[in-house]
Amino acid sequence: MEKQKRFILPENEIPTQWYNIVADMKNKPLPMLNPQTKQPIKLEELTGLFSRACSEQELNQTDAWFEIPEQVRDLYKSYRSTPLVRAYGLEKALDTPAHIYFKNESVSPVGSHKLNSALAQAYYCKQEGVTNITTETGAGQWGAALSYAAKAFGLELAVFMVKVSYNQKPYRRSIMQTFGAQVIASPSMSTKAGRQIITESPNYQGSLGTAISEAVELAMQTPNCKYVLGSVLNHVTLHQTVIGLEAEKQMAMAGEYPDMVIACFGGGSNFGGLSFPFMRHNLVDGKKTVFLAAEPASCPKLTRGIFQYDFGDEAGYTPLLPMFTLGHNFAPAHIHAGGLRYHGAGSIVSQLIKDGMMKGVDIPQLESFQAASLFAQTEGIIPAPESAHAIAATIREAKKCKEEGVKKTILFNLSGHGLIDMTAYDQYLAGDLTNYELPDEIIKENVSKLDKIV
Ligand SMILES: *Cc1c(COP(=O)(O)O)cnc(C)c1O
Repeated sequence: MEKQKRFILPENEIPTQWYNIVADMKNKPLPMLNPQTKQPIKLEELTGLFSRACSEQELNQTDAWFEIPEQVRDLYKSYRSTPLVRAYGLEKALDTPAHIYFKNESVSPVGSHKLNSALAQAYYCKQEGVTNITTETGAGQWGAALSYAAKAFGLELAVFMVKVSYNQKPYRRSIMQTFGAQVIASPSMSTKAGRQIITESPNYQGSLGTAISEAVELAMQTPNCKYVLGSVLNHVTLHQTVIGLEAEKQMAMAGEYPDMVIACFGGGSNFGGLSFPFMRHNLVDGKKTVFLAAEPASCPKLTRGIFQYDFGDEAGYTPLLPMFTLGHNFAPAHIHAGGLRYHGAGSIVSQLIKDGMMKGVDIPQLESFQAASLFAQTEGIIPAPESAHAIAATIREAKKCKEEGVKKTILFNLSGHGLIDMTAYDQYLAGDLTNYELPDEIIKENVSKLDKIV
């Protein structure tokens, strides 16, 4: 029989609901806290910052399913379902008995999974009469996705882009500007948070934490303006579950069910998006799938971070989140080219790690680029440097299958393509990248500055 490589859902099979895993978790994540009162955040406090619909989703612990609004579903149809692909080429190169599948989110118009939540969040803002939105972006994928989504729903968008990326990744900036967004390098002189950091360290190249502070500050000071975040928070991951819900049906088309689900991890949105619909079967049907979140060894919050209430941003404007964290003052090493630089993990994932439902795995930088190259050469797609961490973790597991002579079905997320990240590949090819492991003392020092609440 001819082997099928690619599985696509007919339009009427695209999911109509997102999945909220919190409803099925025995131990609920700890609540976000108001940093002044140290009391759990109330809905009305969140709606000052985020749209009401997203604030409600953020705090909901009881409803497992949320309708995907019709206008969002219509826009999803232009690129969903994304393909589920059997990686025969990679399997052959590894000579592994494992069956390797990947969900290809790189086919979205902006090249990554980020659009799944950008469209939803822009839609809700528009519904609620918001005219302006602000956000931050690191490598630029989130900014690109939200720029397109803002335009689709007629919103004005200001993006604070981490300065080092603004300078090193000019094409992502042009993409955002082409979609009609305003892009500001962060730290900037246009906010109090930015001015303070520039005054203290004039050459600071920025971090996601700083860019979030600037975007939040501008949103709070602009009438009819909300702040929109692309990762970490529960409602963002909720929107991303469309990935896993599709993959569930597509794996059934392929006649398999994953023994392992693997995704790269920045703030957790593509990981949760692919994993949670499968983890639901571990929680409610007794399945035993293993879940691995692949992070860079230079930003190892899942494996070496401390579980602690911490801020989501550098200046301390956000609510306090219960998270595995390297400290909100963490700044990644300059040598690190692979994205996934955020200091903390979302509250759902942090709880799931404590409960042993999933594990983190650290990937050294060179291993991630070696994996990316092998994947490119065998499957014909240049992966995003972020996605390369998931590929590297998959390759490790497939090699184990070969050594142990066991067949496993492995599913990983190709969260995006790397066609606009060729500077990072150039650095790798020129031999300019090295491995970098974050020293324990730095983690200890960063975290020792946090207020101890748990
Ligand atoms: C943003 C991004 C990530 C990391 O963010 P998560 O919220 O952890 O998914 C990973 N891959 C790609 C392609 C991205 O754009």
